[in-house]
Amino acid sequence: LGAQKKMGVALVGLGYYSGGQLAPALLQTKNCYLAGIVTGTPQKAADWSKKYNIPQKNIYNYQNFGEIAKNPDIDIVYIVLPVSMHKEFTIRAAQAGKHVICEKPMALNAAECREMIAACKKANRLLSIGYRLHFEPHTKEVMRLGQKKVMGKVTQIDTGNGFTYGGDPNAWRLKKALAGGGGLMDMGIYSIQGSRYTLGEEPIAVKATQEKTKPELFKEVDETVFWELKFPSGAKVTGKSSYNNNWGYLHVTTENGNFELEPAFGYGGLDGKVNGKPMNIPNINQQAAQMDDFATCVALNKPSRVPGEEGLKDMKVVDAIYRSLDSGKWENI
Ligand code: NDP
Repeated sequence: LGAQKKMGVALVGLGYYSGGQLAPALLQTKNCYLAGIVTGTPQKAADWSKKYNIPQKNIYNYQNFGEIAKNPDIDIVYIVLPVSMHKEFTIRAAQAGKHVICEKPMALNAAECREMIAACKKANRLLSIGYRLHFEPHTKEVMRLGQKKVMGKVTQIDTGNGFTYGGDPNAWRLKKALAGGGGLMDMGIYSIQGSRYTLGEEPIAVKATQEKTKPELFKEVDETVFWELKFPSGAKVTGKSSYNNNWGYLHVTTENGNFELEPAFGYGGLDGKVNGKPMNIPNINQQAAQMDDFATCVALNKPSRVPGEEGLKDMKVVDAIYRSLDSGKWENI
């Protein structure tokens, strides 16, 4: 950005991801910095203010959040709340005149995503989804190999993402009203997206099944989901998501060979192979790269490479997977 001023970012919702990843990354960014916070927990406001040197005038709660409209220190509002709150706070931020990054999954369903996109467009504000991997070098290499057919056409993809949930049984992630769904919404979204960015195509239909081994814990949301996606090119694409298995891989077969990432979707430690040989690509701070890119987009008034439409595309697939779980049939996307 050169002489351009650093963009001020306000994080909304100071939980695990804001505290563990985004705030530390904002100490490494070049084009933006942590200027403000929005929290419902007064103790966090006090702690963060001290730790990150945030002035009182840049601290809001969920009630007085609208007053951020009058604050010139804040250019970008980053929504890091439970999924059910993404739509409301994205729209309120845009209406307050701020550009928005919203965490994944973008919203409870595709209909909400459309409302968020429309509201940001109407307010003439940029909207981006927290898809950090689009700025990650192994992932970019997979996009290049797959989309440019470097090793011939992609014929097959198998991908899975999940972790063994050992957290609070009362957490928002396990409540349908707050999370929208379980492992599919939270973790499966990476595998769905991995298939889309490897092929550079949009899927047209899906068939899904599920398994529940801990019904008392996963009362309201899905535990493990398996799916098969149909793409226009005819590649055979299978995926799975889980709150009860540690998965994180993307395996791709092409006409002339294969490539893979494993781990494929974490914050760091990604590793890849092409025809069995190491890719030897360094890992970077993904969140810093992602937020710096968006700050540049705002400065230049150009759309992000992960705009709201990208979140909508994934949510259309998620919606169709849930329809297929209900119907037991192939569902169009
Ligand atoms: P946490 O539960 O750790 O944090 C959510 C925060 O939201 C809370 O700490 C709280 O902050 C605020 N909040 C407001 N209302 C509620 C409510 N009713 N219940 C619970 N929290 C509430 O969640 P995460 O940080 O793990 O996830 C937040 C978002 O970030 C999700 O969309 C998730 O999918 C996404 N995420 C993305 C990752 C990525 O790699 N891109 C990784 C991890 C999460 P406060 O006390 O300040 O009000």
